[in-house]
Amino acid sequence: MKPEEQAVLDLARAYLTQLAEQGERELWIPKANLPISQHSSENAEPFAEKETPGVRERAPAYGVSGERDLKGYFNEIKDCRKCPLCRTRKNVVFGEGNPGAKLVFIGEAPGADEDLEGRPFVGAAGKLLTKIIENGLKMPREEVFIGNILKCRPPGNRNPLPNEIEQCEPHLIRQLNIIRPKVICALGTFAAQTLLGTKVPISTLRGNIHYYQDIKVIPTFHPAALLRNPGWKRLVWEDIQLLRREYDREVSSEFNDA
Ligand code: URA
Repeated sequence: MKPEEQAVLDLARAYLTQLAEQGERELWIPKANLPISQHSSENAEPFAEKETPGVRERAPAYGVSGERDLKGYFNEIKDCRKCPLCRTRKNVVFGEGNPGAKLVFIGEAPGADEDLEGRPFVGAAGKLLTKIIENGLKMPREEVFIGNILKCRPPGNRNPLPNEIEQCEPHLIRQLNIIRPKVICALGTFAAQTLLGTKVPISTLRGNIHYYQDIKVIPTFHPAALLRNPGWKRLVWEDIQLLRREYDREVSSEFNDA
């Protein structure tokens, strides 16, 4: 090793030792150096990380192991046959996004477009959700994680059946345990009622903060419902402002506690 290389190494070692002495347990790793998987609609690889300038320069707290765990879990359930929906689906729609997301969106179930692509919220409702995230929350879609209560499409987009929810819910619980978000936005009746274990209507649940374990849950109308009822825009806007405030509060208190 050349003396100048040794000097750089010594400097780096001294710097890391100093960080460790200050109690730092994480490193700021340039995103480009993190393992990047490619999305393929053929065999739904949900963690394709699109390069978004300025986003997540810092390795997320759970990101590196969370990504590995989430991928492993995807591989575990990509051929799930726990309920009859496996006979009609094309793809298990696992969910996609940042495996270290502080904010997770949970919808109801994949529709036809999602089933075909193996990705959540890619149809008309998905385009509206992307607008809500990017224009309303002012966040790139890639910064959050997006999933569903059911991982497989109910034929004809009918409502999920209680038995399907019961069989599929453990998948969601496992995903949330891996990601460990700070805030969940429950999109529509099925997401809100399942997460909160209630039959209270979404119109009553929305506008308030609830809890799933210690994670804040902010319910709002499903984007598909919003497409059918444009008059609800103002209410969804209010919910999204509440979501942004709670997200900021959670992230800054986490930062202050660190
Ligand atoms: N509606 C949902 O609830 N989830 C999707 O992934 C798409 C549409």
